[in-house]
Amino acid sequence: MFCIKQRTIKKEIEIKGIGLHTGQSVSLKMYPANAYDGINFVKNGTVIPAFVEYATGFEFSTTLSKNGKMVKTVEHLMAALYFTGIDNIFIEVDADEIPILDGSAIQFVEKIKEAGIKLLEDEKLYAVLSREIVVKEKDKFIIGKPSPSTVITYHAKYNNKIIGDRKYTYSNLKEDFENIALARTYCFLEEVEYLRRNGLAKGGSLENAVVFEGDNVLNPEGLRFEDEPVKHKLLDLIGDLYLLGFPIVGDIYSFKGGHRLNASFVRKLVDEKAFEVKYSTEIDVLKGNQLVA
Ligand SMILES: [Zn+2]
Repeated sequence: MFCIKQRTIKKEIEIKGIGLHTGQSVSLKMYPANAYDGINFVKNGTVIPAFVEYATGFEFSTTLSKNGKMVKTVEHLMAALYFTGIDNIFIEVDADEIPILDGSAIQFVEKIKEAGIKLLEDEKLYAVLSREIVVKEKDKFIIGKPSPSTVITYHAKYNNKIIGDRKYTYSNLKEDFENIALARTYCFLEEVEYLRRNGLAKGGSLENAVVFEGDNVLNPEGLRFEDEPVKHKLLDLIGDLYLLGFPIVGDIYSFKGGHRLNASFVRKLVDEKAFEVKYSTEIDVLKGNQLVA
């Protein structure tokens, strides 16, 4: 049996940046935690656990809130924590949003690796899907099925030539994880005015997002991968799935899903008790493939 330990960071991490939607300057600090503390955001002394029950906003990002305190755009950091296998951490912010950095998760991953990963005494827990769950919204859907290992697929279908009709799958391989972590958020120039009018994307620029004008990429450096947009949608899905509180073991397939549908899927897993929480040694098929960083 392969025993995987719970993880935290070895030392404090500090990251400064701006919020994509709020445009606010933000200083983010991450602190080591004990086994079973879980992932927690801290805003003005209020601890907001990274669970779907605190997810309250889904428009172009995922927002967590509790007692009037909120933290927006948690998904890229959540994906970085998932990829580095961090189960326990406190993340304190002095503004309403996580810094967007370059629009991907790679800088969070690098900072965590730089600080070092600490293995705790206690064994790691997983959420193992025990039956099929489907959520739908118009033509979009997410389906989760029991599977001996984790396979997460995003299928994008847009009338845009670059995004087009593409799929990408994460299956706990190191190369998948590195590719996905590097994929930046994106938007369409046509959407920018709508976003700004609705008080969103105030901090958005070509430094932290890929911007499309029709079928063209406005960023001078172009795309990091031909399929960077679908990889980013997968990154968002992985980050949102981690709001289950444990890494998921199952086969998840999203067709055109966004933050709202991701959160409904996670909420349905919880409400319908569609998973069992198991220790790593109870899942013999894991063979250590759940941790790649
Ligand atoms: Zn995103």
